[in-house]
Amino acid sequence: MHIYLADEQATLALGAALATACPNTLLQIHLEGELGAGKTTLTRGFLRALGHKGKVKSPTYTLVEHYQLQQRPVYHFDLYRLSDPGELEFLGLDDYFTDNAICLIEWPQRGSEYLPGPDLLVRLNYQDHARQAHITPQSSAGEQICAELHN
Ligand code: ADP
Ligand code: MG
Repeated sequence: MHIYLADEQATLALGAALATACPNTLLQIHLEGELGAGKTTLTRGFLRALGHKGKVKSPTYTLVEHYQLQQRPVYHFDLYRLSDPGELEFLGLDDYFTDNAICLIEWPQRGSEYLPGPDLLVRLNYQDHARQAHITPQSSAGEQICAELHN
């Protein structure tokens, strides 16, 4: 599924649409794309749609930021600075990947085999000054989200 994102507002809106489409189960959403492609912007739209009011910090140094929104934990990871996937062992990922948590993960490639496969893969590409999102479901939950987006 391809979506043209003309400007920052469109990226925020896609994040919000994704948040609204999420079923109430454990979800892994991988966000791929170069620096500045809009991964954190999309996450901001996502968190705001679930009621987050404050800022959205880029967890570049902390690796993960936790939000509690609408009776479910939302974890925003940014693995850009991870030098070795093995560092993730020290984070105790099992504590994050439980219940009905939503995990939004920037730079998931850097976590490689320490991360479970995603339900949804969102790839953001530059298209001149705008962006193009390429969304691929990787599980039945991911397919459910895509079906909702179509509506
Ligand atoms: P990343 O987390 O992928 O490194 P950020 O979300 O931090 O990227 O930054 C993306 C930058 O691109 C921001 O300056 C934002 O305003 C801008 N941006 C986001 N979406 C779009 C879009 N669809 N078109 C043009 N600029 C965008
Ligand atoms: Mg980012």
